[in-house]
Formats: sequence, C-alpha cells, structure tokens
Amino acid sequence: MTLPFESGVRVTSPFGMRPDPFTGASSVHGGIDLVPLREGDLTVRAAVPGSVVQSRMVTDPMNRTSEWGNYVSLFGDDGRVYYYCHLASRAVSQGDRVEAGQPIGIEGRTGRSTGVHLHFEVRQDGVPVDPSPLIGVENVPGAEKSPPAWYDEAARWAVREGILRGTDDGLALDEPCTRGMMVVFLHRLWKKLRQT
Ligand SMILES: [Zn+2]
Repeated sequence: MTLPFESGVRVTSPFGMRPDPFTGASSVHGGIDLVPLREGDLTVRAAVPGSVVQSRMVTDPMNRTSEWGNYVSLFGDDGRVYYYCHLASRAVSQGDRVEAGQPIGIEGRTGRSTGVHLHFEVRQDGVPVDPSPLIGVENVPGAEKSPPAWYDEAARWAVREGILRGTDDGLALDEPCTRGMMVVFLHRLWKKLRQT
C-alpha cells in the first residue's frame, strides 16, 4: 500500500474508541487521523489502485456525511472502500480510475474538524476496520511511518543522473522538459528497472 502522503505519515488521532474532540464524550473514531511527516507535503494520494465512488461535499447538516467535508471515496481493487476526508480540494471525479500514489486531493480541514489533517477511513463489507496495520503504523498518537528506503534511493539516483533536480524537500524534472528529455528519462528508468 502507498502512503497517503509521499513524505510519510504521523498519527494525530488513532482508530477506535476516543473522547470526541468537540464534546469530550466517548465515541468511536471510524478512521485514523494523519498528517504528513514533512510540513507542506499537502498532496493526498491514493493508497491502492481503484475507482472513485464519490468525490463531493455534503452540506446538509442532517446528513452525518457532512462531517467529512470535502471527501473522496475509492473502491479499491482489494475490495475495500477507502475514505479521504476534510480535504481542502478534490482532484478526482466520480467514476475516475486511479492508480496507487495518484494525487486525489489536497489536505484540509473542511467539515467537522479541529485542524488540518486527513481522516483516513477503510471499510470492509461496510464496516470500518483499523487502517493502521494496512499502512504499517502503530495505532497511537504520534506514531510515524516513513516511506520505504527505495524512494530516497531512486530520487538520489535520478538527481545524480541529471534527470531530476532539487533537494529532499522537493524534486522537479530538469527544465525545460522536452519530449526528447522525457523519452531519455523513461528509457533510463526502464533500463534501471530491468537491472533490479
Ligand atoms: Zn478522524
């Protein structure tokens, strides 16, 4: 599974029973609240490949879905349904096919939210399940999960080869990126992937 934030995730509120952040009463938290490990990494990404079931904002306060603000739900190829909530904006539409890692929106605080974070909820047969084992993070506040080591390795290789430029805080294709450069990039990448 691809992490919902490229830089990694930190848990701000775990899945399960917790005091409601607004009322203090004990309630069930159907998802896990996440923020990116690197400040400014606001792009929310699909965890698994699938198709977009809903991409919307419900404003009717009688509909509890309004608590999610701007949200995207994906029917994953693994049969689970993934909800990405409180988004500032959405980048996909109902019916779209998405690949793992594809941007689906921008982290925000729309709906019933005490601050900027991603409410990440996973349902199996309609029932919310603990998402923490799926993304490999502990279900406790402050727990962190970094992206796999090959992310950094691949990025460093592309910088060494002059394909990408930048630092750990952000990489870009060396500009201007012509069609020819893109073909060279893809060819080198293809050769590299064949070696591994
Ligand atoms: Zn939440």
